[in-house]
Amino acid sequence: MKAIAEARTPLSVFDQMESEVRSYCRSFPVVFTRASGHTIWDRSGKAYIDFFAGAGALNYGHNDPAIKRKLIDYLAKDGLTHSLDMATEAKEALLKAFEEKILKPRGLSYKVMFPGPTGTNSVEAALKLARKATGRETVMSFTNGFHGMTIGSLSVTGNRMKRRGAGMPLTHTLALPYDQYMGSELDTTLYIERLLEDDGSGVSLPAAMILETVQGEGGIHVASIPWLQKIEGICRKHDILLIVDDVQMGCGRTGTFFSFEEAGIQPDIVCLSKSIGGYGLPLALTLIKPELDLWLPGEHNGTFRGNNLAFVAATESLRYWENDQLCRTVLEKGSIVRTRLEKLQREYPYLQGKVRGRGLMQGLAVGVDGLAEKICAEAFERGLILETSGPKSEVMKVMPPLTITEEALLAGLDILEASIKACKEEEKQ
Ligand SMILES: *Cc1c(COP(=O)(O)O)cnc(C)c1O
Repeated sequence: MKAIAEARTPLSVFDQMESEVRSYCRSFPVVFTRASGHTIWDRSGKAYIDFFAGAGALNYGHNDPAIKRKLIDYLAKDGLTHSLDMATEAKEALLKAFEEKILKPRGLSYKVMFPGPTGTNSVEAALKLARKATGRETVMSFTNGFHGMTIGSLSVTGNRMKRRGAGMPLTHTLALPYDQYMGSELDTTLYIERLLEDDGSGVSLPAAMILETVQGEGGIHVASIPWLQKIEGICRKHDILLIVDDVQMGCGRTGTFFSFEEAGIQPDIVCLSKSIGGYGLPLALTLIKPELDLWLPGEHNGTFRGNNLAFVAATESLRYWENDQLCRTVLEKGSIVRTRLEKLQREYPYLQGKVRGRGLMQGLAVGVDGLAEKICAEAFERGLILETSGPKSEVMKVMPPLTITEEALLAGLDILEASIKACKEEEKQ
């Protein structure tokens, strides 16, 4: 099997030189060369429909032509590429556009912090600031949450295998049951409220709670709107800061720019990365309620906080938010995916499937161990890039670029169905 794969796509330099830690190249064992919109091509010229979108970093697709134009122009005029956190024209334009097109129309007021350019950088900054602002140590997180791979972010992440990688105790955190963790009957906010109110609970008042409104990496668990509102209520009542990690669900994935808009909540701190860079370029923001902006100059720092190419791309990408067209199409496409996954769940009971999701983040949780990965591998052979998530890689995750055409969306779903069918036939033999 391996020999065949190597003959088709010589991966030997990756096998020989790259650390065993590599992962996505194992799921998609070809060498890629080119990408446009929702399509990626490998070295043999074979095209794949992208239902993965760079784990949410490519909400506007690969190499968006308007963004590309701006980047080329900026490079051609020798615009600054690296600037630490010095003031540049590119950063000025991004801050203005973010205020005008995102914050103001939503009635939100946040100071914008530029941490290092990755999601985990934004989370680390948020945790650090929450502890500094409250003088408390504990941060409450949620079961199946994912917040990144550095020590602070891992300490609020659920996945056992990833936590173990820390090689040291992950402390000053407490994991709470996310919405539906105990089934649909039990409202987990009652338990959380009780922990905080009861003098005998053994739980001290935390600095903050950190959550995703939809848990992407953790298996597409969706928090209900009332649950999110109750969590915000608990935070307000007990003077706990609310951090929403919108690194994957932000920038339109759920149908609104911020994933928490529908709940009408106003987090104290918001983490953004992945698609905020617009073009797959590294960029992260930590949004801070003005009264919490208690940093001393330089108290948090980093060399790559001035990625001007990403500023240029991000500014252009915000043009998608000048009207509600993108939102509407995300909801329409999300419902096409939803309906199709529900149909597959009904027609292929062997999957023991459950459909979960919001907007254009939909998943089919498969009840048979190892089957989701098998179907994804089959789909890849048939020209579809589809990843799994969840602690046992049990959820097939449908998250194409938000800009995918309806035609490609349907073609991708057809490939998914054919792959489910092929794996079922194999199962029978
Ligand atoms: C991907 C992700 C992160 C980490 O982002 P990196 O850029 O990989 O560090 C943090 N939080 C959430 C919700 C994510 O999906």
